[in-house]
Amino acid sequence: MRLLIVEDDNRVAAALAGVMARHGFTVFRAATGAEALARLPDADVVLLDLGLPDTDGFDVCRRIRAGSDVPVIVVTARAELSARIHGLNLGADDYMVKPVNGAELVARIHAVMRRGRGDAARGRDDDDRTVVAGPVTIDLAVRTVHVGGAPVVLTRREFDLLAALARQPGLVYRRGQLVAEVWGTYDASAERTLEVHIGSLRAKLGDHALIETVRGVGYRIVADAPGGR
Ligand code: CA
Repeated sequence: MRLLIVEDDNRVAAALAGVMARHGFTVFRAATGAEALARLPDADVVLLDLGLPDTDGFDVCRRIRAGSDVPVIVVTARAELSARIHGLNLGADDYMVKPVNGAELVARIHAVMRRGRGDAARGRDDDDRTVVAGPVTIDLAVRTVHVGGAPVVLTRREFDLLAALARQPGLVYRRGQLVAEVWGTYDASAERTLEVHIGSLRAKLGDHALIETVRGVGYRIVADAPGGR
């Protein structure tokens, strides 16, 4: 897998490149936005810094999305929620705040690659769109949820939230990312709304341990038998 690291800081780029090479990626680098766009056709996945010398990383993200579906993971020192939401709204597939953990980054890359394949396969390969977590079976293709074989009725938002978490069982989804995916926008009340929906989902699924709260970060589904490959 060919990984394009867009990063102007030589030390950060070298450290990231080393970690990712050890994980089996073929790594190449761009130090500016212009270089990133020039090298884009060679990339299977892009790690994108926001603070670049020639242009804003958000602008690079927008220009990548104008002509390409390549997965983009924003990797930046900017931790504010508004920046994260903005990046995701521009079409970034994920967002990580520096310093990044190499193992988490690899997991997130695999998740966004799988997500892309899942989108492509939707409607053709329904088995691949079923997630089993304990007694809960989530069919992403036909939007049904069963607990112990019995159907559970969810609202549209509840299902969208569950589906967002179920795309990669075990992976932690950040609150801002879930809000952006399920509600599409962010305002001051969004995180409270997210908490309320998590609460109602847990109650309806009858298993409070299924959706785990990762303090200070977000949520993840604890899945003992992920159905996606
Ligand atoms: Ca930078």
